Amino acid sequence: MQRKPPKPKDITKLIKPEVRKLRAYFVDETPYRIKLDAMENPFSLPEDVRQNIVEAVKNAAFNRYPDPSAAKLKEAIAELWGIGTKRMILGNGSDELIQMIVLAFGGPVLIPTPTFAMYDISSRALSQEVVAVPLGKDFGLNADKMLKKAKETQAKVIFLANPNNPTGNRFADEAVQKILKRTSAAVVIDEAYFSFSGKSYLPVLREYPNMIILRTLSKIGFAGLRIGVLTASAKVIDQLNKVRLPYNINTLSQAAAVVALGRRDVLNQQISLLISSRQRLYNELSGIKGITAYPSETNFILFRTATDSTRIHEKLKEAGILIKDMNRPGPLKNCLRVTVGTPEENSDFLKHLHKILKR
Ligand code: PMP
Repeated sequence: MQRKPPKPKDITKLIKPEVRKLRAYFVDETPYRIKLDAMENPFSLPEDVRQNIVEAVKNAAFNRYPDPSAAKLKEAIAELWGIGTKRMILGNGSDELIQMIVLAFGGPVLIPTPTFAMYDISSRALSQEVVAVPLGKDFGLNADKMLKKAKETQAKVIFLANPNNPTGNRFADEAVQKILKRTSAAVVIDEAYFSFSGKSYLPVLREYPNMIILRTLSKIGFAGLRIGVLTASAKVIDQLNKVRLPYNINTLSQAAAVVALGRRDVLNQQISLLISSRQRLYNELSGIKGITAYPSETNFILFRTATDSTRIHEKLKEAGILIKDMNRPGPLKNCLRVTVGTPEENSDFLKHLHKILKR
């Protein structure tokens, strides 16, 4: 007698319920002509810098593991931002650093909402409770509500993206410092967009031993290299380093970033152009009937449309322009988020938006 073949086993049933319930971070991979959906820097590097990167990469030892402490890259970042190399951890993007923080501290994790999706996704994936406190009017941070919830839930970590994604605003300094002063949780100030606001909590790092600051090279031109930066007290750095995967910054990224960061002139020029373009884009958007644009201290602008934003998003996509549809019930109803592109890209986007709204 022939035996029945064994039933195929559905091993996904073995996956933690927290993970099964999650939705993966969504990246729209529709082909595009103009990409304004992911807060990337739209400018490329000058040819001479590219050549220098090629040289650096050519001489890299691919047969060896990367420098585990990424010493040269840390020095380049120290010079760029004035962060001490001994108080620095690098991550494969700040995404990885967010995950490391939750891995080390555990939860509950307190976040204001709406905010950057990965605080929630990484916490849940690591089976940690997420406590959300809605932002107030004009997406402002309510320190008292945050503090109350932190105490009630015994939160271990509070994530504050400052300026915040997707709203674009920077929280009132008073509110941030109040939280830093009064909570017993670790407070992560995620300064991913600091280059476009110019304001940072780095100068007061020593005053707040409960503060962790995150930065990233992604928004200033190196999203493809995946390099995030964390700084905190030496004591916290020692602990966090225990959960960092060895060799987390690959050899190619280390080599390329060291060369690219050497050209501060190029970076600064691109950042200033993006800041002035943001202002122009904001003014133009604000002038369109049926659109409410929110002030931004980042390299993107959140705006609300009077009609269905998902339809507008689709129409822009048909024209080859990719922005991000944030539309969902609640405070982001009919909201879209557009990254500041080159002046030409911004004009093209505005032209099509005008056309779509007229129809
Ligand atoms: N923090 C915030 C607030 C962000 O908006 C983003 C990117 N969208 C990140 C962190 C992640 O950046 P990275 O590319 O360094 O992982």
